[in-house]
Amino acid sequence: MTTAFYAPPDQFRQGRVVLPPNETRHAVRALRHRAGDEIVVVDGVGGWHHVRLAQTGQDQALGTVVRSKREVGEPEAPLVLAVGVLQKRGRYETLVEKAVELGVTTLVPLVTERAERHHIRQDRLRKIMVAAMKQCRRSRLPTLTTPRSLAQVLVRYPRLSAFCCHESGTGRQALVDAVRARTAGMLLAVGPEGGFTPREIDLARRAGAGLVQLGPRRLRTETAALAATSAVMLERARML
Ligand code: SAM
Repeated sequence: MTTAFYAPPDQFRQGRVVLPPNETRHAVRALRHRAGDEIVVVDGVGGWHHVRLAQTGQDQALGTVVRSKREVGEPEAPLVLAVGVLQKRGRYETLVEKAVELGVTTLVPLVTERAERHHIRQDRLRKIMVAAMKQCRRSRLPTLTTPRSLAQVLVRYPRLSAFCCHESGTGRQALVDAVRARTAGMLLAVGPEGGFTPREIDLARRAGAGLVQLGPRRLRTETAALAATSAVMLERARML
């Protein structure tokens, strides 16, 4: 089976589903699916549905749900990734795509004191996230929040263990050691090109966040975010 298709929850009714036009075009025109074929449709809220196509038009396809599973491809515990908004939009988009593949559950664009850009294209990032969700065969579309400051993020997720990736200074712990001690939800914060300011690091410490290092090299923001995310996910996979 090639790819999963996406239909939002309101397209499912009484065991039937209507594929949206863009998904229909992909299924019918590009992949040449026809009535009678079985495809997988994810609803982005945890549902993974095997669907038998009943009717296929150029812009709309209807199908019947044959069987469903829940939480396919989803992590055991939440991982909120808050990353400084980057000057180069393309780098941020790549980061978002890969973070979805790796299993992040919430993405927070961070606006920090040294941020060079304060805006994101929410609609564009969402499309990238939907494509990544389907491609990596997971059933939940991660949440993409509006841009937030570090202070806002640190108070927003009180139940998660919070860590700030920082490439210098004393009192830092290796990220792998921090992960090893935890099976529950985590919040990871990564700075923008210019890093976090001393004031932000102080704020994070006072809010109870741990400071973690990812090795002796200074990584680009997107590399640091993805290295940290995969360290968490690989360690969790080892503990399963
Ligand atoms: N010029 C910045 C500075 O010296 O603070 C460098 C910032 S770095 C390009 C961007 C972000 O990636 C940092 O704020 C940090 O969150 C993360 N980062 C990069 N390398 C890291 C490392 N070795 N350990 C932990 N975090 C790292």
